[in-house]
Amino acid sequence: MPRRRRFAPKGPPPLHRPPLENRAHRALQRAHRLMEIGDYANAGDIFDRVARGAHDRGLMRQAPRLYLQAGRAYILAGATKQGFGLLQQGLQIYAGSQLWGQFQQTGSRAVDELQQFGHADLAKDLENWLQEIIPANSKLAESPIRSAPNRQLPITCTSCGGPLKPNEIEWLNPHTAECPYCGIAIHAE
Ligand SMILES: [Zn+2]
Repeated sequence: MPRRRRFAPKGPPPLHRPPLENRAHRALQRAHRLMEIGDYANAGDIFDRVARGAHDRGLMRQAPRLYLQAGRAYILAGATKQGFGLLQQGLQIYAGSQLWGQFQQTGSRAVDELQQFGHADLAKDLENWLQEIIPANSKLAESPIRSAPNRQLPITCTSCGGPLKPNEIEWLNPHTAECPYCGIAIHAE
């Protein structure tokens, strides 16, 4: 009788340990699944919690994206006021770090999304708020988001299962992108 392998490897090993704690990482996997099945309220609760945890731990790359994802989930669940506050909270982290490129790019993407979700009024409010926050003399070119190299990424993160949208991905180098949710490095083909 063949001996069972107790720790069968599942797919290629991650390039480095995910920055989130294991518990947060599992919660994130669950939240992505809840988003897929349309349980936005519960997904929002989890994203919110993981975002706060990441924020407390000083993970300033993951925290804003997780707040934004929490905001997106709450808005889809109909809790628009709460969701809007979380979008602002995420964007405020970029503003606090003077990452005006990320602030504007992520902000205008959130404005577009609010319009897609049928919340033209909130889209306008967010647009006005972005204009208020951004300093008139800030040089947006100071924090550019590297444009995507012509490489193929998996559709979802191999580690947390989050959807990898080309316009939300940051590239660490021409072969490696970073998951916007768990922060793991993902190898592109
Ligand atoms: Zn991930």
